[in-house]
Amino acid sequence: MSDTRTALVEGLMERFPHIPPEAVLKEDLLRTGIAFDESALTDNLEGEIKPKSYFIFSFDQKPLTELGEAAIRRPPEEIALTGGPYELRRTIVSVRVNPGSPYRIARDETGGLQLSLEGRATADVGLPPMPEYYRHELANGKTVMETAPTIQWGYLIYLTVLRLCQYFGAKEECQFCDINHNWRQHKQEGRPYTGVKPVDDVLEALALIDRYDTAKASKAYTLTGGSVTSTVDGLAEADFYGRYAQAIEEQFPNRWIGKVVAQALPKADVQRYKDYGITIYHPNYEVWDKRLFSLISPGKERYVGREEWHRRIFDAAEVFGARFVIPNFVAGVEMARPYGFETIDEAIASTTEGLDYFMSRGITPRFTTWCPEPATPLGRDNPAGAPLEYHIRLLETYRATLERHGLKPPPGYGVAGAGNAVFSVSSFMDTLAPDEVTVEEAVPA
Ligand code: SF4
Repeated sequence: MSDTRTALVEGLMERFPHIPPEAVLKEDLLRTGIAFDESALTDNLEGEIKPKSYFIFSFDQKPLTELGEAAIRRPPEEIALTGGPYELRRTIVSVRVNPGSPYRIARDETGGLQLSLEGRATADVGLPPMPEYYRHELANGKTVMETAPTIQWGYLIYLTVLRLCQYFGAKEECQFCDINHNWRQHKQEGRPYTGVKPVDDVLEALALIDRYDTAKASKAYTLTGGSVTSTVDGLAEADFYGRYAQAIEEQFPNRWIGKVVAQALPKADVQRYKDYGITIYHPNYEVWDKRLFSLISPGKERYVGREEWHRRIFDAAEVFGARFVIPNFVAGVEMARPYGFETIDEAIASTTEGLDYFMSRGITPRFTTWCPEPATPLGRDNPAGAPLEYHIRLLETYRATLERHGLKPPPGYGVAGAGNAVFSVSSFMDTLAPDEVTVEEAVPA
């Protein structure tokens, strides 16, 4: 058998006919990244295409200094793939830049953008239009793109209000995470990149989105950032993130579905998020296996501990309702050298155990596809990421486990199904059956 990337992708599409081909290709793009021809880059905020905002991590597979023209003229935030030899339904993919990728986007002879794999046309590429709210600045000159970027084709406002994590250094930082490095590299390049976003800036940016998003494409916001182990602005973690939640819900009650990504906090703190008006809570457990959790997320192990983390997830389910507690794990890190499982079978068995543990209690985890960023220990040692077959089998087991427990796709992600999904950093939503319940109906008033 040929060992080309095309053969790998097509072989998996054939072996897993019940997984949409869109999802197979999307997973490979997310783990590998894309090379961008100069003709496929944006004109930053001056053009017609929405640029990549660097909304939390770098999600690039080379440092900014090695991205060439893509470091000066940003790539688009996301791409929409259609057609091609696999007759793709519309598939939204988050952009991860990798100048060495076998996937490339360039203009063809008709002037349209094409995604190619190893030189062969693979899909037509649509780019996100510049949203009107990105054309307006805050009174202090800051941009909406930096203060309140939107992703998932405009569905989600991503509020990384703390651009740094207080888990610091090799003994604490999650081994796949480049949040602190990303902050440093943007600062070094002289890009505007605010460490702690003032509440008033966030409210002003949201007011611009509220005013100019007349089609109401934005449906949700995520409040997030690094973990707080001491204080920021004199506030502990729950108070720090809570002040944004409180201010947003006071000014824009129920305008968007409010989500918080934070540490697994004690129940009383979680209750305050709920009281402020937050609907969905993401206490991310990152990786299921006990040994791997302590090695890959040493800060979480040290400050909270795995068992306590899981216990607090269940406590949070009593506050929000099980369906509205959606802990994330990072798909692929459990196979990363030097700690990870040696075989795909072992890795899938472990993650399925974790899915069963939560789903049997009505909690629906979700996952993002690991991007092996070079400044992280795991990215440095595993530049190719996890095997594509692992990612496809994970989609398979996720869907089967969800069905086994009689659960629906998690709320707050738009409509499921290939051709519908907007969740751009994993294809789990592309793989699930379309849900007849709309997000708005699923979210309690
Ligand atoms: S808790 Fe881990 S994943 Fe989250 S920002 Fe800190 S180091 Fe990164």
